[in-house]
Amino acid sequence: MSQDDPIASTYNNTHRAFLQALLSTQTITYPTAKPLLAAILTAQTPDRPTLPEDISQEDFETYIDALTTQISPFDLEIRSTVHQTSKERIYALVNTTSDALTQMSTTHSADELAFLKRVLDAMFETYNTPRAEIMAIKSLQALRLARPSGEDRRRESQAANTQGKDAGLTQVQAEKVMGTLKDEGWFELSAKGYYSLSARALMELRGWLVEIYNDHEEEDGQDEDEEAEHVKIKFCTACKEIVTVGQRCPDVNCQGRLHGHCVKNMFRAQQGREQCPVCKVVWTEPGAVGEKAARGDVRQSNGGGGGRQSNGGARREEVVDEESDSE
Ligand SMILES: [Zn+2]
Ligand SMILES: [Zn+2]
Repeated sequence: MSQDDPIASTYNNTHRAFLQALLSTQTITYPTAKPLLAAILTAQTPDRPTLPEDISQEDFETYIDALTTQISPFDLEIRSTVHQTSKERIYALVNTTSDALTQMSTTHSADELAFLKRVLDAMFETYNTPRAEIMAIKSLQALRLARPSGEDRRRESQAANTQGKDAGLTQVQAEKVMGTLKDEGWFELSAKGYYSLSARALMELRGWLVEIYNDHEEEDGQDEDEEAEHVKIKFCTACKEIVTVGQRCPDVNCQGRLHGHCVKNMFRAQQGREQCPVCKVVWTEPGAVGEKAARGDVRQSNGGGGGRQSNGGARREEVVDEESDSE
């Protein structure tokens, strides 16, 4: 970008246009911002067109910084995290006073939100066991949650102090809600058909997830002793963000978790010792966290391909659906 360009020196129309775009997309990455900023700047000075490749990482960050200052009085901030599978840095507009669920309540009915809660319970409880930390759900599994089970009703009416009047949704409605939540940027849908929380949802729901799913051990000990020890929401030892896709310590009883993209950094920080940062066991053939954990017997099949940094290495076809399908 040329020196005399007024980019980012003061908050101007280009910033406003960029903010408008971010308000509608909610998340942005540097690669997606390049053509956007180029178009905005070109519209501002048509006689001096700007090309996407003219937008440097620094230009982009300058815009992010300028917006951050500008939006803070409106209880908004821009947070960023590294996407667990694409490994891209994602910037998201986050509301600092109302959590994601409150925001969703403006566009979704109470029955829809109750369904969403059952889906989240499935992601973080049913499909997140010591044996398989999947933390994702297939469409068919989600549709089975369209209507609350008797147990759900009991829990809901206890929590809300009401007589379980949650009638649930029809399958069609439930399917539609899953699609809407994806369109709104709360869910992601993988190539293999798993819904999981998006990077933005994880940023916004971090506190809520810990509050709801951790520290509840003794409640309904259906899965017995081991389950009682199982902390549902775990954090990467390297970057301290939630892990819903990544690697787990080869020792099934250890809480050590790392994102795939954080493994190298962790080992470097340990002076090259390729061991679990928590229990120090050698980090070979780590288990999978995420939809890969759903396949047959993960503990054996996961590391098969390329050794320890192979979180994307061994791509085997999913043979049968996961055991956790049964309820
Ligand atoms: Zn990490
Ligand atoms: Zn460990």
